[in-house]
Amino acid sequence: MSIQQIVILLAGVFVLGAVIGSFLNVCIYRIPAGESVVTPRSRCPHCLTTIRWYHNLPIVSWILLRGRCAYCGAPFSIRYPLVEALTGALFALFFYRFGVHQVTLVSWLLAALLVTISFIDLDHQIIPDVISLPGIPVGFFCSFALPWLSWQSSLLGILLGGGILLAIALGYEWLTKQEGMGLGDVKLLAMLGAFLGAPAILPIIFLASIMGTAVGVPLMLIKRAGRKLAIPFGPFLAGAALVYLFFVERLDPLARWYGQALAFWWHSLF
Ligand SMILES: [Zn+2]
Repeated sequence: MSIQQIVILLAGVFVLGAVIGSFLNVCIYRIPAGESVVTPRSRCPHCLTTIRWYHNLPIVSWILLRGRCAYCGAPFSIRYPLVEALTGALFALFFYRFGVHQVTLVSWLLAALLVTISFIDLDHQIIPDVISLPGIPVGFFCSFALPWLSWQSSLLGILLGGGILLAIALGYEWLTKQEGMGLGDVKLLAMLGAFLGAPAILPIIFLASIMGTAVGVPLMLIKRAGRKLAIPFGPFLAGAALVYLFFVERLDPLARWYGQALAFWWHSLF
């Protein structure tokens, strides 16, 4: 395939991702409010006019309308095109990484779930159960499509992902007598364990902690809010999971060793 063809293909995948991202914006806005993500059609929150399809094109419409409602001029957040661009970029990246393969479809699904979860967590400091809980069986089902993963590893990932963070959360609460980590993170990690398998759990927690520290410490210094500044952990777990998935084959020697150790433990139980 020529360079031009690859660029055109990636651009097409980016557009597909941006369209999906446009739907994710609806999910991010409506799921915490308990509203349907299907009906009614998107309306301007200010003047309540139904937004026409040609005013609702991902990224393009926001730029052409300069981030304002076409009817009343009320400003629309720059986050809408950013979520669309982010989803498009993730779709293109995973297509570039895995090509025409079922792994690409799984990574798109996971990316879409994680973008939605991350922005809801940023807005409301919650990870909605309506995404993370169904995400566990969906991830288990998807694990059959990943050639490097067995269903046993996916099952163990659910138990390990849920179990480790639950232990940390309960331990933290017991030590400090205050809630440090939400149970939403526990269910999210169980979902990630389902999608990516048991060997992914520790690398994801490790990477998310590094990223969380790298972002959290400067934020605390700037805000001088002290130790009580609540930064949601969900977006870091989400980012770490996508980084892990992108580099999974490069992490493989470690993952294989770790997976074998777990498999040995698993088999020794039965
Ligand atoms: Zn309006």
